[in-house]
Amino acid sequence: MQSQKKLPKAFSFEFYPPKTAEGKEKLRAAWKQLGQLKPKYFSCTYGAGGSTREGTLETVLEIRAAGFEAAPHISCVASSRTDLKAQIERYRGQGIRHIVALRGDLPSGLASLGELRYANELVAFIREITGDWFKIEVACYPEFHPETRSAADEIRHFKRKVDAGANAAITQYFYNTDAYFRFVDECEAAGIAIPIVPGIMPIGNFAQLARFSDACGAEIPRWLRLRLEGFRDDTASIRSYGLDVVTRLCDDLLTAGAPGLHFYTLNQAGLTSTIWQRLGL
Ligand code: FAD
Repeated sequence: MQSQKKLPKAFSFEFYPPKTAEGKEKLRAAWKQLGQLKPKYFSCTYGAGGSTREGTLETVLEIRAAGFEAAPHISCVASSRTDLKAQIERYRGQGIRHIVALRGDLPSGLASLGELRYANELVAFIREITGDWFKIEVACYPEFHPETRSAADEIRHFKRKVDAGANAAITQYFYNTDAYFRFVDECEAAGIAIPIVPGIMPIGNFAQLARFSDACGAEIPRWLRLRLEGFRDDTASIRSYGLDVVTRLCDDLLTAGAPGLHFYTLNQAGLTSTIWQRLGL
């Protein structure tokens, strides 16, 4: 954690592009509320094969028009080089200078992997087309990506993205601080010197969290799972207990020198802003 401790703290909030007019209104209310916390930036996810191309850009442009920094995500799965280039050029044409570059996951029913196989190839492609125009964030996985075969591979593949030109990384969410600290130490030992910002998933709905975690390989520790399961349909208790757990997680991470926090808000301001207030940020 040595090099991470020296970095200024960066806080960011992630959204997904809403599909309905009502969803847009709710998101607008959420980013306006969270904007009062003066994050470093907001980011907006991107669907495989460019399925949310317009919604991602529209969300980012709306937030930027209000004077905030906002970074669109882009993923290369199920996309051609031509389509990716067009989207990257569109981002640049709008004056966007910050991007989150991912491989993405292939939704069932989609057959084509795309022309770029892994996120390191996407990072290299963005650099090839646009040089140093963008600040590029990538994803990394303290508890290991579900497809990764070994811990050593995880670090090796992450390093490929850094060597290709990534400037910073955001982790998959986790509830074991040791997983993050050990991962950061291993990255530093491997010569990775970029900020590794913990991704934070507030807990508001246990069934949804369990579904996400099964899919992305983030562990819900047994002590936490059993507690949350024990609350059954008592949403207020799940939220209250989740707030205690996640606030302490954030506090421990910041105290030990994490360079910031990236909140997966799921387009809701409530839990994230309560955690923020409790942290006294
Ligand atoms: P990669 O870095 O390419 O890694 C994917 C897998 O391949 C890993 O197991 C890795 O170890 C392995 N690998 C990498 N390089 C090689 C290689 N050269 N040879 C062999 N194996 C290799 N998904 C979306 O669809 N849209 C989003 O907007 C989005 N935003 C995200 C934001 C964050 C912060 C995070 C953590 C995830 C996000 N995801 C998003 C999910 C992400 O797309 C998935 O986790 C995806 O499965 C992996 O993406 P990646 O960019 O980490 O891929």
